[in-house]
Amino acid sequence: MREAFEIAGHSIAPGERALVDLPMPKLSSRTSLNMPVHVLHGRRDGPTLFICAALHGDELNGVEIIRRVLKTRSLGRLRGTLIAVPVVNAYGLIHESRYLPDRRDLNRSFPGSDQGSLAARLANLFLEEVVSRCSHGIDLHTGAIHRPNLPQIRADLDDDETLHLARAFGVPVLLNASLRDGSLRGAAGDLGIPTLLYEAGEALRFDEVSIRAGVAGVLNVMRKLEMLPPSKRKTDKWREPVVSRRSAWVRAPESGMLSTVLPLGAQVAKDETLGYIADPYSGQREAIVSNTDGIIIGRLELPLVHEGDAVYHIARFETDAGNVALQVGHFHADHADDKDAVEN
Ligand SMILES: [Zn+2]
Repeated sequence: MREAFEIAGHSIAPGERALVDLPMPKLSSRTSLNMPVHVLHGRRDGPTLFICAALHGDELNGVEIIRRVLKTRSLGRLRGTLIAVPVVNAYGLIHESRYLPDRRDLNRSFPGSDQGSLAARLANLFLEEVVSRCSHGIDLHTGAIHRPNLPQIRADLDDDETLHLARAFGVPVLLNASLRDGSLRGAAGDLGIPTLLYEAGEALRFDEVSIRAGVAGVLNVMRKLEMLPPSKRKTDKWREPVVSRRSAWVRAPESGMLSTVLPLGAQVAKDETLGYIADPYSGQREAIVSNTDGIIIGRLELPLVHEGDAVYHIARFETDAGNVALQVGHFHADHADDKDAVEN
């Protein structure tokens, strides 16, 4: 028989699930604040996986992804242990903000310490109580406000096991991202815990395709880890994700009113027109042209821009980018008519 899973004074027996509160520093009003943590402790041995969202308090797609994952029926046959934290940064969430009340970015504050700043203490709490207990992790993010991202995985793809899981997730674009100082992914990497970062949609919005692809991705990774039985559904039709090792931002050449021409996922060539910036008074406009070949993986939606603002994020590929664009199209078609996801 497996041993019980112990967390914050709670003991969760094999085959049980529990919602455990981790106490966090109180609000200035002395209102208590907790980090609720779902623990699903399978009957049989297997990996321990964390999935977490809203590390940046305004990035909400992951909260809904975790809600849907936790309703999945096959979790009744879970091997290993799933630890799901829908909201890591409740301080940011209640202010609709990416940051903490001390204006720090939690994802630059790892590994943190129990004697440090508020951000350092929260990072330390999450790392000690959750991450360090796990063998694998998935951290769910979105783009910034007004800057949606094409669903993508960012991970250290030079690590074989991380690459293996990234491919299993099931999004068309994988971005090789070296471990960033102070990030959760970096701290987990230092502990030898392969961790994927899923980026999809934008802050303060639910995006249905991003959410469905995220739910499918988490379950795909759990199947790859043999935490869940294999899917009876046919595997996705669009097959092979493509790795990008370089990406670049195209910035506004001028201030004014932005109208964009190309959508997320579009293939672009160097010097191709991506959009226009108009002077609202004279009506004259200037084209924004791409500085590289590639696929648009992030895009500004807000029409108001200043010179120098980041407008398009373009991933470069060593393979034919036309093939990537085709896969993006298949990917969208798959998740647009995913009826199972709607019922959840
Ligand atoms: Zn984020």
